[in-house]
Amino acid sequence: MPGPGYAFLGHEERENVEKVLESWELTRFKRDNPNNPSFVDVFERLVERSFSAAHCVAVNSGTSALLTALAALDIGPGDEVIVPGYTFVASIGSIIYSGATPVLAEVDESLTLDPADVERRITPRTKAIMAVHMLGAPCDMNALTRLAERHGLLLIEDVAQACGASHEGRRLGTIGAAGAFSLNPFKVITSGEGGFFLTNDDHTHQRGYSFQDQGWFPGRTDIGSGDVLFGLNLRMADLAGAVACAQWEKLDHVLSETRRVKKQLADAVPERPGVRRRVLHDAAGECGTLLVYVFDRVADAQSVAAALDTKTLVDSGRHHYANMPQLAELSKPGGRPSPFRRGGEEGGHSYLPGSLPRTDDVLARSVAVAIGVSDSYLGAGFGVTVRSDDEEIAKAADRLSSTLDGVLG
Ligand SMILES: *Cc1c(COP(=O)(O)O)cnc(C)c1O
Repeated sequence: MPGPGYAFLGHEERENVEKVLESWELTRFKRDNPNNPSFVDVFERLVERSFSAAHCVAVNSGTSALLTALAALDIGPGDEVIVPGYTFVASIGSIIYSGATPVLAEVDESLTLDPADVERRITPRTKAIMAVHMLGAPCDMNALTRLAERHGLLLIEDVAQACGASHEGRRLGTIGAAGAFSLNPFKVITSGEGGFFLTNDDHTHQRGYSFQDQGWFPGRTDIGSGDVLFGLNLRMADLAGAVACAQWEKLDHVLSETRRVKKQLADAVPERPGVRRRVLHDAAGECGTLLVYVFDRVADAQSVAAALDTKTLVDSGRHHYANMPQLAELSKPGGRPSPFRRGGEEGGHSYLPGSLPRTDDVLARSVAVAIGVSDSYLGAGFGVTVRSDDEEIAKAADRLSSTLDGVLG
């Protein structure tokens, strides 16, 4: 089972897809009839309304949404963007392709950016902080917002893993200058491939729209108010829009089911010394897609992971900076991790394994139990699914409890 939304794919998605097939209107631009909006248009308006965001632009992936956010905010060569060393490789890759310089920062026991470490890494070239809401839970948005304001920085939210989560009542992705979401099958809800970008600022929206649609102004007009840009084609196709609309209507249900299963499993595993749950900056607002335990000792985390046929988070592929060979390449003079730049250009910044000792340590002490997202790549090879019944949840809780008893005594 990939993400929780995937488990709820059904006849609603199928009916929308059939409507697209009946008309063969496969792009978001319906020929001739402005009163008959495409699914992609409908999706954007649905998202704006339910998240109280001024603007949504649907795109073809979460990576495209991040690139769009960076371009919309005019981030490029010469700028530094602070990003956590624990995130999916796409967060860092999108910064590379914007031409800016990624600056890695530590995460704390929330597995999200440590604001104090972010502050230490600010230089006169820093333009933005990319806050990644990892494993379904919000970053410390109060501290990061204050920091961004104090230093005149842009805050970009990577909400790929936390669609629908909130922080103190505000939906993630609407707090910073822009939010980027993914709809790939491992995320909270899915359209197969897809993503979207949110902003409350009209100018940022115009630039974002133009970037993903070959420089057209919003509404696909030739002229508009704002900046002329070269864009790319990162548009969402209407078959994906059809699925996305049906999944969006299910978001609240998917989240409440995921949270219910998580609570049921977590409540059945008694607390004990030597381990605690990951710090949550808003326990009620997180998605609940993963239940993360942080151990005092690396050896205990390793023993528990091995007994559960999973691994500690330090070994999650392409989610820990030390598991990204591209970063090692970027550190080498003459290295070529991207066709648009050479290695060795990142003067003074280290990307090599060992450069974030606190991140390495906390990930080595962490084990994630799958709730709604089962992805061994993410390091969550053991757990339940959003469709698990009471018996399956109880069985998983028993295995987890007895493993913890066996290892921690
Ligand atoms: C999945 C993910 C992305 C990229 O999304 P795609 O739709 O796969 O391009 C970006 N950032 C994070 C944190 C992710 O988990």
